[in-house]
Amino acid sequence: MLGSPPEPPRPPLPAAPEVEPDPLDSTQVNGRRCGRGHLNDPRLGQCAFCGLPVEDGGGQLVAGPRPALGLLVFDDGTTYSVDAEYLVGRMPEGDSRVAGGALRSLAVEDPSGAVSRVHAEVRVSGWDVLLADAGSRNGTFVSGPGEPEWTQLPEGQTHRLVPGTRVRLGGRSFLFESPSGVR
Ligand SMILES: [Zn+2]
Repeated sequence: MLGSPPEPPRPPLPAAPEVEPDPLDSTQVNGRRCGRGHLNDPRLGQCAFCGLPVEDGGGQLVAGPRPALGLLVFDDGTTYSVDAEYLVGRMPEGDSRVAGGALRSLAVEDPSGAVSRVHAEVRVSGWDVLLADAGSRNGTFVSGPGEPEWTQLPEGQTHRLVPGTRVRLGGRSFLFESPSGVR
């Protein structure tokens, strides 16, 4: 965390046996730990939280609670931590997946009226953040890092968000930021 005093290095954690995450528990993920015990995407060589090398652990992965995978930074400065899966739209709270607790409501206002009541889904799978259009009227568009143009997501297709990707819904947009995301 920014601003916190540096922690003294701790001795490395003992090698943990490989653990299969409970498939019913979507908050668990397989990864590798740094010397301070932060769980990381196994595709990274350095800890996304403290920069220490991520231990190879003899090639075995350990299961643990999934950390937040990044931030959705909206055009008005509002941010949402990707520590849950979201349903984005003008009135997502009316959807059964929000009422049932599968997705968290992320309501956006759009003066142009081009955002659908239920517009797009932000999902997580392992260490990846995925975007899909949720049957919106005007479509969901993405623009990868350094790409000048917008590309519409085909219906029913998920798109992995790499850090620096912009997403446009109607008259609104957000940027996906992640210190730990694999590009
Ligand atoms: Zn760390």
